[in-house]
Amino acid sequence: MGATALKNYINGAWRASTATTYLDVMNPATTEILATVPLSPAAEVDQAVQAAAAAFVIWRRTPATDRIQPLFKLKTLLEEHLDDLARTITQECGKTLAESKGELRRAIENVEVACGIPILMQGYNSEDIARGIDESMIRQPLGVTAVIAPFNFPGMIPFWFLPYAIACGNTTILKPSERVPLTMQKVVHLLEQTGLPKGVINLVNGDKTVVDAILDHPLVRAVSFVGSTPVAKYVYSRAAANGKRAQCQGGAKNPVVILPDADIAMTTRIMADSAFGCAGQRCLAASIALTVGEARQPFTDAIAEVAQRRVVGYGLDEGVQMGPVINAQSQARIEGLIQKGADEGATVLVDGRQPNIARYEAGSFVRPTILQNVDPLGEIARTEIFGPVLSLMHLETIDEAIALINSGQYGNMACLFTNSGAAARKFRYEADAGNIGINIGVAAPMAFFPFSGWKDSFFGDLHGQGHQAVEFFTQTKVVVERWQDWTRQF
Ligand code: NAD
Repeated sequence: MGATALKNYINGAWRASTATTYLDVMNPATTEILATVPLSPAAEVDQAVQAAAAAFVIWRRTPATDRIQPLFKLKTLLEEHLDDLARTITQECGKTLAESKGELRRAIENVEVACGIPILMQGYNSEDIARGIDESMIRQPLGVTAVIAPFNFPGMIPFWFLPYAIACGNTTILKPSERVPLTMQKVVHLLEQTGLPKGVINLVNGDKTVVDAILDHPLVRAVSFVGSTPVAKYVYSRAAANGKRAQCQGGAKNPVVILPDADIAMTTRIMADSAFGCAGQRCLAASIALTVGEARQPFTDAIAEVAQRRVVGYGLDEGVQMGPVINAQSQARIEGLIQKGADEGATVLVDGRQPNIARYEAGSFVRPTILQNVDPLGEIARTEIFGPVLSLMHLETIDEAIALINSGQYGNMACLFTNSGAAARKFRYEADAGNIGINIGVAAPMAFFPFSGWKDSFFGDLHGQGHQAVEFFTQTKVVVERWQDWTRQF
C-alpha cells in the first residue's frame, strides 16, 4: 500500500487535492516515506480564501470572550497529545524527542497568551477632546490572513501567529512547509475538536504556487511568513505591492562573543546546545563564536571536546543528543560549505562530514563541526549554513567584536558571555540585533515578547508573538463623537 496522501482542510472539511504533483514526506533519519503531500493549485487557495472570507462575517461578530474558548480547549488538547505530536515532529523533521517537546511547549505558551485577547485587544479613549466631544480608538480584525511556515519548527512557528490571528477575530489560511506537513495536519485535527466554526482555519498544502496565490489574492489582508531571507524579501515585496500588510522573518548568522572573564565551562555547555541543538537548524543557532583575548584557547579546546562527544542518531532513540538535518540535499549543501570554509583558509578542527551512523546509514546526518580561524571577510563568515557547524574567530577587544557583528547582513540574534555588567550593558546597547542574549545561547523570546529580528532577518515592522502580534492582526479605528445633551445649558 502506498503512503497516505495528505488532504487540505477547507471550510471545515478534509478535501483531497486536485494536485497533479505530490511530494514524498521522508523521515530524514530512516528515509521511511511517511506520507505524500500535494502541491495544491491556486484554485484551492481561492476556495480556502472564499471560505475564510465567509466565516469572517460571523467570527468578527463573535465576542472576544467566546472567540478564546476554542483556544482554551486547544491548549488542553495539545497537552494531551503532546507525546504523539512530538513523535511526529521528530519523524518528519529529525530533531530529538526532547527538542520536539520543547517546541510544542513554546507553541502552547502562545495559545495561553492569545487567551488574553479580551484585554490585549482593548483600545483607549479620551473624554472632552473639545467641549462635549469624546474620542476613542478601537481595534478591529482585518479579515482573511495567511501564515506561511518553514521546515525547522513544524509545531511551533505557526503558533507565533495563528492563535493571535483568530483570537483577534480574523480567519486564516495556513500553509505549512511541504517538507514537514504532518504536524500541522494533526494540529488541525485537534482544532476540529475545539468548536471553532468552519472556515475560521483552513489548511492548504503546497509550495510556491500556493504562496503566490495567497500573495495575489485580493481578499487576503495580511501575511505572516517565516523562512529564508531571499524568500522572506520576495514575500514581503509581493505582499506590499498587492496592498497587504506583511511580517516576514528571514535567515540568520548569529554571532556569540566570549570575553576572557566568562565562565568557560558554562559557556561551552550553553554554546554547544546553541550551535548543535536541532542539528544547527535553528534561526537562533549560534554560528560564529568570537573569542576575545585570553578566552581563545580554553574555549577552543573545550568546545572541540564537547562537539566530538555529542551523541548523534535517530531522535526517537534513547540518549541521542542530535538528529539528522532535513534531507540529503541539505546535507550535501552543508558539507559543501564546510569545504568552502577550508578552501578559504579555515582549519576543520572537528569534521562532521560523511558520518556513519549505525543502523541509519542512509540518513542525512552531519556531525558537529568546528571551523577554526575563519576569515571574517570570507564567504563562510557571512553565509547562513543552517547545520551543526560552528565557526571560530578571534579578536582582541569587545569593540572589534561589536564592529564585526554590526557589519553583518543579518540581525536575528547576538550573544555575549561575560561576568562584567559594564560589558553586558555596552553589548546590549550597541549590538545591531533584535534578540540579545547575555550568558544565554539561544535568546528565544517568550510568547509575551516579540520575536525581534532586525536587518535581513526581518522584513516588516510588527513582529510575531505578544502585543506586536495583536497590533499586526488588528486595524485601529478612531471615533470622534458629539452627543448633545439638549436638556442642559452649557
Ligand atoms: P524556505 O524559505 O525555503 O521556505 C519557507 C516557506 O516558503 C515554505 O513554506 C516554502 O514552501 C515557501 N517557499 C519556498 N520557496 C519559495 C519561493 N521561491 N516562493 C514562494 N514561497 C516559497 O525556508 P526553509 O528552508 O523552510 O526554512 C529555513 C529558513 O528559515 C532558514 O533560513 C532559517 O533561518 C529561517 N528561519 C527563520 C526564523 C526566524 O524567526 N527568523 C525561524 C525559523 C526559520
